[in-house]
Amino acid sequence: MGDCLFCKIISGEIPSKKVYEDEHTFAFEDIDPKAPTHVLVVPKKHIRGLKEASAEDAEIVGRCHLVAAEIARQRGIEAGYRTVLNVGPGAGQSVFHLHVHLLGGRDLHWPPG
Ligand code: AMP
Ligand code: ZN
Repeated sequence: MGDCLFCKIISGEIPSKKVYEDEHTFAFEDIDPKAPTHVLVVPKKHIRGLKEASAEDAEIVGRCHLVAAEIARQRGIEAGYRTVLNVGPGAGQSVFHLHVHLLGGRDLHWPPG
């Protein structure tokens, strides 16, 4: 946890382009955007990933999604956006602090790669 990139972004030790913050969540621009909107929403609590989340984390996981929905509303991309959690290295998870990707502002194809 002491070495976690996203914990350091939340604390401000590592700079980020902050989009939103409240008591429980923090959102910032992805450094390598894959769409015109690519924001990461993270819980302030360090949770390694979705498979490590427990029942007590249900509310914070939901909050992260609702923050993503509000950012999408504010950016006018509600015609079509995607929230994604990559779970485990096989799905591309590279940072082990749970994060919801908010992707939008372009056509999104299905299924994703
Ligand atoms: P994932 O691959 O699902 O674990 O997502 C990690 C995301 O974090 C990737 O989309 C990266 O581009 C992004 N990322 C890595 N380092 C930073 C950083 N310093 N600031 C913002 N986003 C980052
Ligand atoms: Zn962390």
